[in-house]
Amino acid sequence: MKKITIIGSGTMGNGIAHVFALHGYPVSLVDVSAGALEKAMQTIAGNLDRMIKKELITPEKKERALSAIRTFTTIDRATEDAGLVVEAVSEDPELKLSLFRQLDDLCPPDTILASNTSSISISRIAAATKRPEKVVGMHFMNPVPVMKLVEVIKGYATSGETCAAVMELAQNLEKIPVAVNDYPGFVANRILMPMINEAIYAVHEGVAGVKEIDTVMKLGMSHPMGPLQLADFIGLDVCLSILRVLFDGFGNPKYAPCPLLVNMVTAGVLGVKSGAGFYSYENGTKDAPVAGRFRN
Ligand code: NAD
Repeated sequence: MKKITIIGSGTMGNGIAHVFALHGYPVSLVDVSAGALEKAMQTIAGNLDRMIKKELITPEKKERALSAIRTFTTIDRATEDAGLVVEAVSEDPELKLSLFRQLDDLCPPDTILASNTSSISISRIAAATKRPEKVVGMHFMNPVPVMKLVEVIKGYATSGETCAAVMELAQNLEKIPVAVNDYPGFVANRILMPMINEAIYAVHEGVAGVKEIDTVMKLGMSHPMGPLQLADFIGLDVCLSILRVLFDGFGNPKYAPCPLLVNMVTAGVLGVKSGAGFYSYENGTKDAPVAGRFRN
């Protein structure tokens, strides 16, 4: 089996390494931060332990998966013999473009270069390389070991062969791949983010309170989590930046981010990662409404 190189070992990168290693692929996991790599290996081991407890895998399978992962702080040696590179570094267009230029220089000509980007155009990333037909989006969902979907994004120049190879790989990971074309937000975020934005508008206009809006969507639409709580989990800054990609990409005012969202991000209120968003996450709580705010 050809080697899989994963660049970026944060939230998504460690999950992607987990699923490839568990399905028998040799993995090279790269991060500029040695600390991030150490934390990633601990997270993977912890998540594999959870799978053992649920009797989904055996302890031997865990050990095999962990020993299939090698870690690197630079990309040069990590990309030797890679059949596929999955990039999962921070969502920064300049960082990704420069990384794809380097990958194009370093990787063998038949290596497929995939990005896990949530919102940056695959065609734009591909245009930074001399192999745009071999560049594709492989958009895993968080948490990667649990979520079944992989959105496979076909850039303007991505070949059918590249798309088919990545679809097959995703199936080998027991995921369900769905092929989509490269337009802003692809499918998942094009539909999810306007829903979250509309929920924030409903708070902003006093249509209902935070808990009430989330309850309507949970109990009325069978969503496992309300849109405002989901926004807190994704990160309000991430939601804002994806909405801006939609707004800029389509030039349509229906994607304009709600001023309340802009205000919250400006104030550093980012959701779970900052301790509060539409809910408070201090003192171990998960969905305590933020006192005195967002009243009807
Ligand atoms: P993260 O911040 O948790 O991790 C990013 C990692 O990339 C960090 O460990 C950082 O040290 C590393 N990094 C930065 N520059 C690097 C470089 N030049 N070389 C190697 N490593 C480098 O980010 P994340 O949440 O895992 O997101 C990664 C990508 O996945 C983004 O493009 C994001 O849009 C996308 N994504 C995120 C989610 C999510 O829910 N978090 C879901 C789907 C897609």
